[in-house]
Amino acid sequence: IPSPSNFIAVLADTLVAGFNPFGGNWLEAPGPHELERITIGWIAEACGFPAEASGLFVSGGSMANLTALVAAREARGVDPREATLYVSDQTHASIAKASRVIGFPESALRVIPTGDDFAMRIDALAAAVERDRAPFAVIATAATTNTGAVDPLESIAELCAARGLWLHVDGAYGAAAMFSDRARGALRGLERADSLSLDPHKWLFTPYECACVILRDGSRLADTFARRADYLRDVAGDEPDFQDMGVQLTRSFRALKVWMTFQVFGADAIAEAIDAGIARAEHMASRVEAMDGWSLAAPASMGILAFRCDALDDDAHAALVHRLVDTHEAMVSSTVLRGRRWLRACTNNPRTTDDDVDRTLAALRRLAG
Ligand SMILES: *Cc1c(COP(=O)(O)O)cnc(C)c1O
Repeated sequence: IPSPSNFIAVLADTLVAGFNPFGGNWLEAPGPHELERITIGWIAEACGFPAEASGLFVSGGSMANLTALVAAREARGVDPREATLYVSDQTHASIAKASRVIGFPESALRVIPTGDDFAMRIDALAAAVERDRAPFAVIATAATTNTGAVDPLESIAELCAARGLWLHVDGAYGAAAMFSDRARGALRGLERADSLSLDPHKWLFTPYECACVILRDGSRLADTFARRADYLRDVAGDEPDFQDMGVQLTRSFRALKVWMTFQVFGADAIAEAIDAGIARAEHMASRVEAMDGWSLAAPASMGILAFRCDALDDDAHAALVHRLVDTHEAMVSSTVLRGRRWLRACTNNPRTTDDDVDRTLAALRRLAG
């Protein structure tokens, strides 16, 4: 997933590098602290969270997922050696990584199969939860990296509520679509998550590094992470400081690039840019469908499309990626779905045009022979 950045956000990062505010607590940088609180508030509101939701900016989706899982583990007081976490066969690898870091053995991850649409099968999830001794949390994905599939969030939220399970939605890529009136419907149920990851450095058009983690009950973060050293005693205020809501003490002012992006372009322009990325992958899907001997893995979803040339084997698809790069014209990536290799495009850059897509497909056709 590319990071289509914008010039205003680059200026914001330049200011941050120059002023170098300490983002850990209010006392040392009240302006940045307030602005981070406000910006997180915008994102939480757009995602349909209640007023008591809260969160903070972190380095990326991997760190957001880790932070959320630690808070979930503490909130539920689970023993990692006993609890079960539910993921799908399309869940991002950062969840397995985070689980390992925070002490869940590999056997704690129950991998639920996905259907033809690459979304988690709710019947399989319900059956697994029924069977297990200590179900703890479900990790649902709001737009998978492979195909843009969205897990059935509403039904998963229903199941989690009925069984008292923590619901974490990994929306590192796709949750940004909550800003679009047209795209939001596909993410119905996301607003019921206990915790959410969302990366502005993927689909809110800021440069690296910029992700956020939001907890439905914001106080969970400080409950989990607040530890005061003796030399930090004089900074305690009414509101928890960001240094007490996550892993980092010294932290940069990542909120400014998101805040300035919204202030300068406006939420409507951002929604339009998100819609454009979705439309571009749909355009690409319609072109691939019209190409003889080429297939789609699934319909385009959330600006992502996986496709392949029927006559080529897996190695030839891997080679095709490099041959396309060698043209210096375009680049697609590849992925593996159900044991076969597929080409994969993510069209979230609003500067990509339908013509770019057409030329990319023409080059692929030519190179595929
Ligand atoms: C990209 C991505 C991540 C990891 O985010 P980073 O910012 O690369 O750490 C996690 N989950 C999903 C669904 C992603 O697309």
